[in-house]
Amino acid sequence: MMSEHVKLHDKSFQIYLEESVIQERVKELAQTINKDYKGKTPIILCILNGSFIFTADLVRHFDFPLTVEFVRYSSYEGTSSTGKITKMLGMKSDIAGQDVIIVEDIVDTGFTLFNALEELQKKSPNSIQITSLLVKPEALKYDVPCAYVGFEIPNDFVVGYGLDYDEHGRDLPAIYKLKE
Ligand code: 5GP
Repeated sequence: MMSEHVKLHDKSFQIYLEESVIQERVKELAQTINKDYKGKTPIILCILNGSFIFTADLVRHFDFPLTVEFVRYSSYEGTSSTGKITKMLGMKSDIAGQDVIIVEDIVDTGFTLFNALEELQKKSPNSIQITSLLVKPEALKYDVPCAYVGFEIPNDFVVGYGLDYDEHGRDLPAIYKLKE
């Protein structure tokens, strides 16, 4: 039996999406993607760290041949007034002419993926689609077209299933939200 509440550091969280609900939805997403990518050999681009569990579950439902790439973003405060700059690290494949499926844990403002898309487009892939387990529509500030969305959620802070609070909680099989 899953616990209804968890405590991470100084904060308390309550259950939001049960493990079975997540697993069922991931399977559905994979079935949709299987139809769209029939006969193709896409590169699955896992955005670390948060997407490692979602990616692992998703790829095991895929029925087309694929390769997996892992990238992460380093954000830092720029010295100029342009503010935050984000750089993609760890990209090994040449994605020119390839079909790419970006796997993200959560789209909040969309800043991360907006920048990722811009950088990836420069490498001339054949196509790029995004799948995100969670999207917070109320927080969206950048135009990032997510073709495959697991759940639309309110503007709450969530942890579990790969998502962390201060590096804790990634191992939780369910998703929890911060208690007010
Ligand atoms: P964005 O660039 O879309 O504003 O933010 C995306 C990143 O912010 C996610 O990949 C994730 O690391 C972090 N993030 C946004 N919302 C949440 C949340 O509710 N919980 C956790 N743990 N991370 C979040």
